[in-house]
Amino acid sequence: MLKLYNTKTRGKEEFEPLENGVVRLYACGPTVYDFPHIGNLRTFLFSDLLVRHLKRSGHEVRNVMNITDVDDKTIRGADEEGVSLREYTQKYTDYFFEDLETLRIEPAWKYPRATEHIDEMLEVVETLVERGHAYEHEGSVYFDISSFDEYGKLSGIVPDATDSREFGRLDDDEYEREDARDFVLWKAGKPGEPTWESPWGPGRPGWHIECTAMSTAYLGKTLDMHLGAVDLVFPHHENEIAQSEAYTGEEFVRYWVHPEHLIVEGEKMSKSKGNFFTLRDLLDRGCDPIAIRHLLMTAHYRRQLNFTVEGLEQSLHALERLWDFADRMSEVPADAEGEDLAGEVEAALSKFEAALNDDLNVPGAMAAVFALVRQVNPLLAEGRVSADGAQRVLDFFADADRVLGIIEHQDRADAAGADDAEIEALVQERQEAREAGDYARADEIRDELLEQGIVIEDTAHGPRWRRE
Ligand code: AMP
Ligand code: ZN
Repeated sequence: MLKLYNTKTRGKEEFEPLENGVVRLYACGPTVYDFPHIGNLRTFLFSDLLVRHLKRSGHEVRNVMNITDVDDKTIRGADEEGVSLREYTQKYTDYFFEDLETLRIEPAWKYPRATEHIDEMLEVVETLVERGHAYEHEGSVYFDISSFDEYGKLSGIVPDATDSREFGRLDDDEYEREDARDFVLWKAGKPGEPTWESPWGPGRPGWHIECTAMSTAYLGKTLDMHLGAVDLVFPHHENEIAQSEAYTGEEFVRYWVHPEHLIVEGEKMSKSKGNFFTLRDLLDRGCDPIAIRHLLMTAHYRRQLNFTVEGLEQSLHALERLWDFADRMSEVPADAEGEDLAGEVEAALSKFEAALNDDLNVPGAMAAVFALVRQVNPLLAEGRVSADGAQRVLDFFADADRVLGIIEHQDRADAAGADDAEIEALVQERQEAREAGDYARADEIRDELLEQGIVIEDTAHGPRWRRE
């Protein structure tokens, strides 16, 4: 049974969905005004890991991630490039999906776009006005936070004024704790901005309202889980709760789950600080995308993770060991006799599952996999693994990879498009020379291959080669 830390109760709780076997999950998605940086991607990867774990545990998961395609930044970007908002955001939406695929993040159930749900948002805003939770002011509509007694229940931020509408209003979508005031649901149109018709004149939605409108449209009044990085607790999620609960009269979210930030030299990675890497920056430097995925998984999600290039190198190194081990396992001959590894694999599986069920401890789950590699490696090197044992390990890897997504790999030699057949032929020729006692020729071939960066290793099951 999965235990998760719930920001709402500030403690770990056993997770059970409202409807048996079905999890309704909403995660705040990207604002498509630029390439995501790898901090954003750490947060999206966390959603992926949680969803994969829930699916592997037998749940059907209806996970929704919104695409914010109208806000100050997207409008400004489109304006600067002289293209329509749609053309501009489509480009970055495509890049976003490409990045997800590169990092092996499985597609969500739905990716609704804000601009395609304006009617649903207007419906929520109108209802809030009718019920006295929101009011119009100069063509914009604001949520009256004093009308919602429980405002502040997620973040612990309680505004001090108690009389209705004494707080003043705020048009910004993002603001600091001190600025807990009536927030904007609908913004009056400004000249040159894209607008939609509304009962209050032409305008566009504020940021917070899209998540209420789209989550209820696809998942109903009460969500099992809502995700987003810690910076969204206030004001975004606090405001989502106020609007949603004032709108539906029901509890909005049962489990709030907030992953921590990716940091660089002690500071949050962010566009505004300029201390960010996009996935493309790293791929252009020749980084392996699965090493990036691995690195982003090396700290527990409730801890900050410090990004370094050395960390990335360590990740690649660890993965190469794992891949090499898996390759050698798959080469154990079908008639090999030896250890069946039943006890080792069972122990690894139970550690793997216990770690994931303990507040999604992904580093712990990966440690269970790597510990098995360390334990079995000497047996494999000595040719003491049976065919059954090898299959058992490979089955466990395939199963673990349903969550981790780092073990399966394309042979990098294939990916490089090198002429494997030629290398195989030389390796074979060297082996024959050795068997015939022609060590001079055997060494010559080895040196020739080494010059091309190909290393031959003689194992209990014959020679193997790999690129350096
Ligand atoms: P945005 O595209 O700016 O709306 O952000 C998308 C998601 O990335 C949100 O859940 C943010 O909270 C999250 N995020 C922003 N910066 C970081 C960071 N440095 N580390 C992890 N997540 C982040
Ligand atoms: Zn949101």
